[in-house]
Amino acid sequence: EVMRLARKLVEDGLLEHNEYVELLADRDDEVREYLRSTAQGIAVSNYGHDIFLRGLIEYSNTCKNDCYYCGIRRSNDNVERYRLSLEEILSCCEIGYQIGLRTFVLQGGEDPYFTDDMMCEIISSIKSHYPDCALTLSIGEKGRESYERYFAAGADRYLLRHETADIDHYRRLHPESLSLENRMRCLEVLKDIGFQIGAGFMVGSPGQTYDTMASDFEYLKKLNPHMIGIGPFIHHKDTPFRNEADGTLELTLYCLSMLRIMFPKALLPATTALGTIDKTGREKGVLAGANVIMPSLSPDNARSKYLLYEGKVGVKDKAAEGRQLLDERLAEIGYRTVTTRGDYKGWDRT
Ligand code: SAM
Repeated sequence: EVMRLARKLVEDGLLEHNEYVELLADRDDEVREYLRSTAQGIAVSNYGHDIFLRGLIEYSNTCKNDCYYCGIRRSNDNVERYRLSLEEILSCCEIGYQIGLRTFVLQGGEDPYFTDDMMCEIISSIKSHYPDCALTLSIGEKGRESYERYFAAGADRYLLRHETADIDHYRRLHPESLSLENRMRCLEVLKDIGFQIGAGFMVGSPGQTYDTMASDFEYLKKLNPHMIGIGPFIHHKDTPFRNEADGTLELTLYCLSMLRIMFPKALLPATTALGTIDKTGREKGVLAGANVIMPSLSPDNARSKYLLYEGKVGVKDKAAEGRQLLDERLAEIGYRTVTTRGDYKGWDRT
C-alpha cells in the first residue's frame, strides 16, 4: 500500500492529507530507496550534476523574537551579540565572489537596528558592486512596504521558512507575538511583489507529527515556492527545547526526496543542519534530490556567535578553502559546484 502511495506521488506530484500521513508513517527501505532514486533522477534531469552555491552572510545575531527552538532568541543571555557593518558585509561578498559564488544570502536575527533605509543601502551597495550576482534576503517578517523597498533596491529572492503549517504546532514553537497567519501573509506578499521565494520547515521539531507534516506538504503545494529549505531540528542548550530530541537524518532525507518529486524544479538546499547531524549529510542530501549548498561567508568571529543549534558545522572553516573542499567531496558522488546565480529554472526578472 505504501508503495502504491509513493508511485501516486510520483505520478500526480501530490497526495491527499491522509495519504501523506501514510507515506510518512509506513515508510520502509524499499519505498525509501524508490523515492530517493526517483528524486535524484528528477533533480539530474532538471539541473544536471550541478550544485548551486549560496554564500551565507550572517550579518546580525541580534533578534527581537523569542522562538523556542532558536539559539539566538532574545531571551538567551549567553549570546554575545554582534552586527556586521556595510564594509564587513561587502568584504564577505568579495571573498565569496573570488571563489566563484554568484548568490549572496543576507541572513540575520530580526534586528530593529537595521532600518529599512539601512537595509536598502546594503542591498543596493551589494548589487552595484556585484551586478552579476543574485541577492537573497532572510531577515524575517516585515510589512509589504518594506518588502517592496528591498525589491526595488535590488533584492532578488527571499527565504522565510513557514516552520509549520499547523496552527497548534506553530503555537508550540513560538510565543504569542508571532502568528502563522502573519508568516503566511508575508510569503504571499513576497511572491506577489516578484521575489523568488523560499518556504520550509524543520524536520523533527518538538510537537511535529506526521499529521502536521502532511499539512506542510499541502501548504507548500498550494504556495508553490521556488525554494524549499528543510533541515533537522537540532536542540540548543540555552533554549526551552534543550531536552528535546533532534530530528533524524533519515526522515529529513525522506522529506527532501518527497519534495523533489513534488517540485521538480525547486531549489532545494542540503542544509548546514543536515551536515551537522551527519558528517556526509549534505552529500546524502544531494543524492536524495537537493541541488543547493550554502557555505558560510561570515567572518570567523561572527560564525561562532551565530549558533542556532548545538554543534553547527563549518564554524571553523575558512570560506576560501570551503569551495575546494566541497568540490572534492561532491566529486566523490559525481557532482560539482558551479559559478552561476542558480536561479529557478526558467526564471526571468522583468
Ligand atoms: N530570522 C529569520 C527568520 O526567522 O526567517 C532568519 C534567521 S532564522 C535563525 C533561520 C532559520 O533557522 C529558521 O527559519 C529556522 O527554521 C532555523 N533554525 C532556528 N533554530 C533552529 C534549530 N534549533 N535547529 C534547526 N534549525 C533552526
